[in-house]
Amino acid sequence: MEFHSLNIIAPILKSLAEEGYKNPTPIQEQAIPIILNGTDLLGCAQTGTGKTAAFAIPILQLLSENTTNERRKRIRSLIITPTRELAIQINESFEAYGRHTHLISTVIFGGVNQHSQTIILNKGVDILVATPGRLLDLMNQGFINLKDVEIFVLDEADRMLDMGFINDIKRLLAVLPKKRQSLFFSATMPPEILKLSQNILHQPEKVEVTPASTTAETVQQFVYMVDKNYKNALLLHILKDKNIKTVLVFTRTKHGADKVVKILQKNNITAEAIHGNKAQNARQRALTNFKAQTTRVLVATDIAARGIDVDSLEFVINYEISNVAETYVHRIGRTGRAGAKGTALSFCDAEEKSYLRDIEKLIGKKIPVKEEENPFPLVETLPPPKEINKSTQKPQVNKKWRGR
Ligand code: AMP
Repeated sequence: MEFHSLNIIAPILKSLAEEGYKNPTPIQEQAIPIILNGTDLLGCAQTGTGKTAAFAIPILQLLSENTTNERRKRIRSLIITPTRELAIQINESFEAYGRHTHLISTVIFGGVNQHSQTIILNKGVDILVATPGRLLDLMNQGFINLKDVEIFVLDEADRMLDMGFINDIKRLLAVLPKKRQSLFFSATMPPEILKLSQNILHQPEKVEVTPASTTAETVQQFVYMVDKNYKNALLLHILKDKNIKTVLVFTRTKHGADKVVKILQKNNITAEAIHGNKAQNARQRALTNFKAQTTRVLVATDIAARGIDVDSLEFVINYEISNVAETYVHRIGRTGRAGAKGTALSFCDAEEKSYLRDIEKLIGKKIPVKEEENPFPLVETLPPPKEINKSTQKPQVNKKWRGR
């Protein structure tokens, strides 16, 4: 199928062609006609499926078709998303797909001075992308009025609840116009998310693609069984491969991310961390450097990474395995996006074996173990390396493999 068979208007088709999009992804194929029809939508889809365009394209089309002079530059569509990175990327999508329409979008999020945001809001926008806290804050200060909202999008609902935004969402719902179109997206649909969706949606149609338990077919997955103390050495060993231009590395904690960055930098590998303790502009700078490939390794925690959208990211490394199996699916979903190929490598130590088993149960397949190319296999007992910078040498311990 091609985009024009979805009855998309010429100015948007033009920008999609400029973006290099040839065919709609499955979520786009299903969701765009429903949204254009004015129906509410319950979308079960994770990032990487093309879900942003699945809602941005029809929103731009509906708003540009129904514009009157008095409606211009009033907030007619509101998109709520949990993280700043996601908010920025969603707004970039609206700007890209809407560049040949007259519609204006902007993005607001916390952690930065509000001044530049309020200047744009005062000039008037048609589409507002926001994180919940800053939105409520600017509403309370009188910079934002939501009475003209026609289309409301709640993105990444499961992550919103995880991050404790439920009361903010309720406050927001209380002020949104009752007569509106609502679109609700979540990667997972546990009962509390379904309940929330029922409070927001009116007779929705449901669209489901790549449920959280399926890992992208195009992503090659491998696991290295490795002692915890040799994970740095293994990472340095893997990064000797110059074919790895950029890699996104996941750690469980912010502190862990900073530690990995330090080790890499000591070994002359450009690396930056992205996590919640970093100021917004530092996070944005790290992301820009990574996209430009001036930083080779970006080390991220899960929440910070949720919005990272880097075209053609080929490698993801799980330096630590998450105890939440779904997180694995989200992490490796950073690569192999929209059908591109990708590789996900996971470092599994003795304590993480049960997490690995949970993941394999969730995705319904065994992740192959890299044995030959692992100079630091998990063994019964291994003394901690004396000095981490020299630890890329193979440990001289002759012990039996520890099986999985
Ligand atoms: P998302 O799931 O919205 O985070 O999008 C994942 C990635 O797919 C982004 O980099 C988009 O730019 C890209 N993308 C979205 N739709 C298409 C499409 N129809 N063809 C090619 N790439 C796409």
